Amino acid sequence: MNCTEFLANLTDYFDAKTAATLRVELERHMGGCSHCHVTVDTTRQTIEVYRNNELFELPESIRTQLHQAVLKKCANLKRKKAHTA
Ligand SMILES: [Zn+2]
Repeated sequence: MNCTEFLANLTDYFDAKTAATLRVELERHMGGCSHCHVTVDTTRQTIEVYRNNELFELPESIRTQLHQAVLKKCANLKRKKAHTA
């Protein structure tokens, strides 16, 4: 397999249904070709970003921070209301 063939099959590498034999060939080429290795890394990151956006999933740490910020805001509002009442 050369770089052109590798790139032609690149999307298949990320497809779970891809035949194991093709996957082995892709991995063998990637192991000896830094250019294709970088391409796969970049593509994988792009796919992960895309998937995250698609699901509107927030990282756990950001979600926790948001949650705490909202709780804090609510607590402050309640306190203010209690003082005015
Ligand atoms: Zn290559």
